[in-house]
Formats: sequence, structure tokens, C-alpha cells
Amino acid sequence: MAEVLLTHSNHVYSDRKQVEKMQPYPPLQTMIAAAVLRDSGIDTACFDPALEPTAGAATQAFEAALDRHRPRLVVVCEDNFNFLSKMCLTRNREMAFQMAGAAQRRGTPVAAHGSDASDRVKEYTAAGFSSILLGEVESTLLELARGNALDTVRGLAYRKSGSVHYNPPRPVRTDLDELPLPAWDLIAIEQYRRAWLSAHGYFSLNMASSRGCPFRCNWCAKPIYGQNYHCRSAWAVAAEMLQLKTAYRPDRIWFADDIFALSPKWTRDFARAVETLEARIPFKMQSRCDLMTRETVAALRQAGCAEVWMGAESGSQRILDAMDKGMRVEQIHTARENLRRHGIRACLFLQFGYPGESWPEIEATIRMVRETEPDDIGVSVSYPLPGTKFYWSVATQIATASNWSDSADLAMLFRGAYPSEFYRALTEALHLEVRGGLGLSAAWEQVHALKESCASLEAVAS
Ligand code: SF4
Repeated sequence: MAEVLLTHSNHVYSDRKQVEKMQPYPPLQTMIAAAVLRDSGIDTACFDPALEPTAGAATQAFEAALDRHRPRLVVVCEDNFNFLSKMCLTRNREMAFQMAGAAQRRGTPVAAHGSDASDRVKEYTAAGFSSILLGEVESTLLELARGNALDTVRGLAYRKSGSVHYNPPRPVRTDLDELPLPAWDLIAIEQYRRAWLSAHGYFSLNMASSRGCPFRCNWCAKPIYGQNYHCRSAWAVAAEMLQLKTAYRPDRIWFADDIFALSPKWTRDFARAVETLEARIPFKMQSRCDLMTRETVAALRQAGCAEVWMGAESGSQRILDAMDKGMRVEQIHTARENLRRHGIRACLFLQFGYPGESWPEIEATIRMVRETEPDDIGVSVSYPLPGTKFYWSVATQIATASNWSDSADLAMLFRGAYPSEFYRALTEALHLEVRGGLGLSAAWEQVHALKESCASLEAVAS
């Protein structure tokens, strides 16, 4: 039995790319929310569908959890630290809606929190959710779980007399050290350990040191934290690392922050705290190329950083400027060199298909990849998410589908310079180039053939 049942809709085996990568992480945000409720004396359980063998099995297991716990409130609380939840994938939405249906059939009110629910309040309430928790989740959830009158809960949207009522927004918290550590004990950690060990021979867990990002890349959706950025104290983060090291013995850590180590001073303090507490676990993280200065990279190395993923996006300055990336192409090269000097793997996120990009800009990106020789790349096509400047710039071209079904989709959702098949072929060729493997020449031939066929189609059309 539990008063509140928290869950989320990320199911690894429903997502081709997640199955291929097999790097599953426990739902950090869901576990932090659970810890907040529990610390306030509310009996809380978590249902984690991530590693259920099939979507059907996940639904069945969720129904069993409902019957076992008989909660008075169910919350589908997505993991905001998992980039997949930011992609608003339709498979996840379907699972969330099924969960709402299952709770509704038992007469249990069900609420939702996450990027997709924030973007689609009306669809979620029509699917059976009685309320949506907008913005940062913990305080809103706590008031809802305590049974406060709905019209007094800031940050809540809820169904009322057949329409949706929006309460005033709730400001984000500025002191993240007030939050408890995630409720790791409510998740089957050993399942995750087994998945990692059998796929990779090591085990990785996730942490977060901050929330939000102060930069303004114009395609980046920020439905939860807006333009806010707040960071935990360096010593609190190092202490959590030590706690994980002692309790669960992960071989690696993934810092799920949008931007880890934003401040050089924070990074130096963190390195010192990790050393003093003997908390060191090799970690990987995300940042921006322009933040990977010599000084910051040296401190990161001292703290145990092994791999940095950076949003390089494009080798064309014109495209970076169009994206409001606030970064120079030269900084991609400098970041790569700084990381190489300290023996840290440098990995780049690339984005193709942004409006204004044609073959010369794509060539500039290919050239940048060849010159910087990243240790790995992640490739995507520009993905218009509601609430972004980029979304509005292409809104009139968006076809019926406005979300990918899963994270391997790579479909162009607006009219780009080339069709989706071209970008999929380009992705494959670049992956082969960076990761190695057979068929590189054939992959590039395919890219050029698709490029030429698009050019001849255009010539016919004009
Ligand atoms: S730096 Fe990253 S998280 Fe921040 S706005 Fe740009 S893409 Fe988004």
C-alpha cells in the first residue's frame, strides 16, 4: 500500500535507439520527487517501466502496482533529466495515456508532469489526467499530494467544469541544496546494473548538479525551467557522489545536467571536494564548446571527468549564428584540443537540416568533423518543439506529425533542403567515419546519390 504512486513513461524496449545503445538510467526526477514526498511523511511508491521486456508487460505491471498499492493519487512524473523526455516522443505519450486510463478505471485521480504534458495540457486532460504540474515539480506535487484545494496550488493546470483552469505559475527554487537525494531505494537498481554489465561490462548511474540553462539556442525548448539556471553546491554534489560510490558502487557516473560545470569557480571547488572526500568516480557530462577552457578542463580532469559531450551543431558559422548558438566554429576546435590535452574524450552533437543550411554548410560540418576528429558524435535533424523561436519560424511547414515516434526517428518535420532519407544516410556515413566500420565508401556514395537526385528533382520542378 502507498498513498502516492509515482511513475514515468520511458520504456527502453519501445525505443530502437535506446535498445541499440542499452545505456538505461534510473528516472532521476521521479526519484527526487518521491524523496520529497516521503520526507514530508507521505507514503510513496515508484513504478519504473523502463526495463520491462515489452510495452504490454509494462502496462500489465503498472496495473498490478495500482492494485497492490491502491494509491489515492497517481502521478506520471517524467524524468526531466533524461533528454528523451524533452523530445516528447509519441510512444511515451501513448504509454502515459494508457497509465491515465488504468488509474481512471480504478477511480484514482492521475496527474502528469513533464515537457510533453506541459506542451499539450488539453490533450493530456482529455486523455484522463485530472491535473498537469507545470514548471518545477516538487513543491507543486507536495501541495497536490497533501490534498490542498486545487485552485490554491501554484503551477497547476486542472480540469474544472469541462475546461482547463490554469493557476498562476510557481517560481523555480533557487536553493537546490534544500532538495533531498533521489529515493534510489524505490527503484530496482540491480536491473539497471545487469543491463549495463551485460551490454558494456561496466555499470553507470546518473546524477545532476544543476537545473536549466541560461543560453538561448533558439531551437532548444525549456518548458520546465524556462531561462532559469541554478546549481547545487559543489560539496553537496561531491558528497552525493561519495554516497553512490559507497551504496551502489557504479563504475561510472553520467551527469545529466544540460550544462555541467558552467562556472569555472564551481568546477574548481567540485574538483577539490571530490579529492577531499575521495568520492572520485569517472564521469561523463554535457557542456558547450565555449565553456571548455584550459582551466575548466584541467579542473574537470582532476575531478574524474572522462568524456564530454558538446553541442557543436554545425561547422558553418552562418548556421550557428542563425541558431543563436552564441559560439564560434573556432571554439569547437579549441575545446577539442583542450580536452585532448587532458586525455578526456571529446564527443560532438551535430544537427542537420536547420533552415538556410544547404550542401556547402553540410560540407563545412563534415570538414569540421574530419578536422577535429571527435571520439564520438550524436547526429540529429532540427526538431521543432513548441515554445521555441525555431518552431515558430517553421510552424506553417509542419506536417501532420509534429513529434517523432521514438528517438531513432530522425524524420524532418518541416520542409528542409533535403528529405529525411538524405539525413539518415548522412548520419550513417558520419557515424562510420567517426566510429569506424565497413561500408564507408558505399555510405558516402549513397549520400551523394541522394543529394544529386534531390537536385535533379528540383531542376524538373522549376
Ligand atoms: S546550451 Fe544546450 S541546453 Fe542551453 S540553450 Fe543551448 S542547446 Fe539548450
